[in-house]
Amino acid sequence: MNSFDVLNLDEELLKAVKDLGFENPTPVQEKVIPSMLESNKRDIIALAQTGTGKTAAFGLPIIQNVDASSKFTQCLILAPTRELCLQIADDLTSFAKYKSNITIAAVFGGASIEKQISMIKKGAQIISATPGRLLDLMNRNIIKLNKINTVVLDEADEMLNMGFREDLEEILSTTPSARNTLLFSATMPREVRAIANNYMKNPIEITIGKKNTGALTVSHECYMVQAKDRYLALKRIVDFYPDIYGIVFCRTRKETQDVADLLMRDGYNADAIHGDLSQAQRDTVMGKFRIKHIKLLVATDVAARGLDVENLTHIINYNLPDELEVYTHRSGRTGRAGKIGTSIVIANLKEKSKIQQIERMIDKKFDFKPIPSGKDICSQQVLHVVDRVEKVEVDYSQIEPFLPVIFKKLEWLDREELIRKFVSVEFNRFLDYYRNAPDLNVPVSSKSKRRTKDAITQQNMFTRFFINLGIKDSLKPVQLIGMINDFTNIRDIEIGAIDIMKNFSFFEADAAYSDLIIEGFKNKKLNEREINVEVAEKKKYGGDSGAGKFSREHGSRKGRSFKKARSLKSLNENNTRRKKKRR
Ligand code: AMP
Repeated sequence: MNSFDVLNLDEELLKAVKDLGFENPTPVQEKVIPSMLESNKRDIIALAQTGTGKTAAFGLPIIQNVDASSKFTQCLILAPTRELCLQIADDLTSFAKYKSNITIAAVFGGASIEKQISMIKKGAQIISATPGRLLDLMNRNIIKLNKINTVVLDEADEMLNMGFREDLEEILSTTPSARNTLLFSATMPREVRAIANNYMKNPIEITIGKKNTGALTVSHECYMVQAKDRYLALKRIVDFYPDIYGIVFCRTRKETQDVADLLMRDGYNADAIHGDLSQAQRDTVMGKFRIKHIKLLVATDVAARGLDVENLTHIINYNLPDELEVYTHRSGRTGRAGKIGTSIVIANLKEKSKIQQIERMIDKKFDFKPIPSGKDICSQQVLHVVDRVEKVEVDYSQIEPFLPVIFKKLEWLDREELIRKFVSVEFNRFLDYYRNAPDLNVPVSSKSKRRTKDAITQQNMFTRFFINLGIKDSLKPVQLIGMINDFTNIRDIEIGAIDIMKNFSFFEADAAYSDLIIEGFKNKKLNEREINVEVAEKKKYGGDSGAGKFSREHGSRKGRSFKKARSLKSLNENNTRRKKKRR
């Protein structure tokens, strides 16, 4: 007996649930299952994240309600991604383990349509589909929705984010109006609400956890660094958690690949997943991640949608998403099924207001933590090594034959020296790397302190560049910053002084990005004129006098910084707009 027994599920389903090791229904299951088993079914809107057990919440009653004697398609489940679609079909197949004559088909893009057609032709009472491929099969008259009695929209907000609104509307209007409709969504933006209003009848609304909030088992941490130190901060955080198993979210495909490449170069078990990779490449990376050969998956939001990986210890926001609601999805990938998880944001001071917006959205406060120092990391790592030594299982019979030689070889070492040496085998590389590690922290609240620190570091932070465009090319600072953003594909490179001269100009930019800037401007043109950017040599271009001209025109260094900040902000906003349009 288990407490699923009170939900009116039939014997075969209870047996399958038991096999899966589910002991008690989750809150969403307690609410959705009885309602779907009633004769007078109501439509349901469930605000529930992945990890709440929502698949079983709709899957179990769907299996129970299916008429197995009929081959017609009766239930349709729509999901945003191939991964989620397959996951749902798999889960439902395991729920239907003790039922006969129930067929569940998965229909999704990026795979052979012929195989899916032949499966459907054999008759599938339940179809789990992504909207695009489903429409394709409807248009080919392979799938008919006229006998559908139940429609589930899973991760509805994601489907709308991915631009499936029109597809959804077309699909929903093809199904019988007497259908029972269930909508699951982690968030409830206006577009989701509109779908519910137009295609659902008097729905019951249930909320698992608070609206738009993250799971209770997820804690949220924020590390403030300068933009140029983002990668170093990531490494510190990863080194501080030796057992980390997580996803690092980046904003663009390029940034995703760059961060993964850097991590791999630096010896981490990491790889990237993003839209520039083929489905086969993505599957390979995902396979390795699932079996933990890869410990850090660097991903774009789109590529990570629908990935269902359990036991993630951390989510790291290498950069915050453009749309802050996406943060809830990211962080909801950890802390599942009652486990504890941590969602980390690496932010710079300019992003403080975004952090506050997220706090309001998830109704939780971030724990602002200092970037671990070299010493913190070393002590954490040494404890990890010792812990592993303490817990390792010794296979006495296997190791015994090797021991006499080893004992002999090490007999000159006393116990303490032996421990020092064993620990050092693992530990030395961290000691070496972090020996003179700088402090990467920036003060979060004290403006005066910040200015002092900025003043100290500013000199070393910037590289001065020459560019062969000037007033005669109508070059403006805003346009120049725009080019730097676009050509490097990075938005938050710190820009210092900009000196626009008649025939050429100088600009200062975060030294950490020098190579990227030079590389980014290669083979680029403005008004048919080849652009040339080089690191400025003072003598060659009379650099100082150039800066003097700018100072005369625009006042003190403080004045120039202000100008820089304004132009950067407006450009970033433009970038965001451009991005939104592309979606
Ligand atoms: P879902 O939200 O449907 O993606 O489910 C998240 C995870 O929770 C899956 O691995 C399920 O197998 C698991 N799960 C679902 N229901 C239960 C339950 N009642 N007890 C324990 N685990 C469950």
